Amino acid sequence: APALVVDNLRKTYGNGVEALKGISLTVQQGDFFALLGPNGAGKSTLIGILSSLVSSTGGDARIFGISVNQQRNEAMKLIGLVPQEINFNQFEKPFDICVNEAGFYGIPRKIAAVRAEKYLKELRLWDKAYHQARELSGGMKRRLMIARAMMNEPRLLILDEPTAGVDIEIRRSMWHFVSGINAAGTTVILTTHYLEEAEQLCRNIAIIDHGTIVEDTTMKRLLAKL
Ligand code: ADP
Ligand code: ADP
Repeated sequence: APALVVDNLRKTYGNGVEALKGISLTVQQGDFFALLGPNGAGKSTLIGILSSLVSSTGGDARIFGISVNQQRNEAMKLIGLVPQEINFNQFEKPFDICVNEAGFYGIPRKIAAVRAEKYLKELRLWDKAYHQARELSGGMKRRLMIARAMMNEPRLLILDEPTAGVDIEIRRSMWHFVSGINAAGTTVILTTHYLEEAEQLCRNIAIIDHGTIVEDTTMKRLLAKL
């Protein structure tokens, strides 16, 4: 199965805003996929539905064949989410932040501890594992969000505008690590409103505007058209 099939997905919020007007797209396994669109386009709404934080009002999305509508708990286990804003408790330690995340997925503590070590090492945070998160640099905090998102060993890693307001040095380092995760087999979806960012990283791209997919193509073809 593809990593993701979005089929005529709709979301109308309680206030009547039609954030998604029946969108469809497919992301293949192993892809590094960009979802590009201006503010208000519907990117976060789509990511919210894929990660079971928002309910859809029509259509469906399947993650490796698992329906977010009908098999919500199963679908959640397949996803790792790196949100826009730093949202861990700054007084907690990276090791605990990771282990607690695993607990949320029902992963036994021993396995969680092994994984926390693995991913904190991979993201070059191991020497800070037992320091309070507030002592980490901005780049380290971003990497901690990635390590945390890997704790359930997701098959699909979603980054929701992860570099908004983040300086170039930190962005480069984030992309270095995310590229490594992708090369190791995890499918990655990145949402952004900067084409330049997606351009260097992503093979395929969809552009969303006003809740509609207006382009769905390869990065090469898109760049050739501009
Ligand atoms: P609901 O989904 O029941 O509307 P929310 O907590 O999502 O509840 O939002 C409550 C209200 O806050 C919405 O109806 C909307 O008016 C407003 N709101 C929240 N987030 C946004 C946003 N990103 N853009 C516009 N309005 C928003
Ligand atoms: P993007 O992530 O591309 O900036 P969003 O998915 O956040 O777009 O928003 C799409 C549209 O839905 C916008 O018009 C936004 O104001 C609206 N919206 C987002 N969240 C809510 C909410 N909770 N309640 C009402 N409207 C919302």
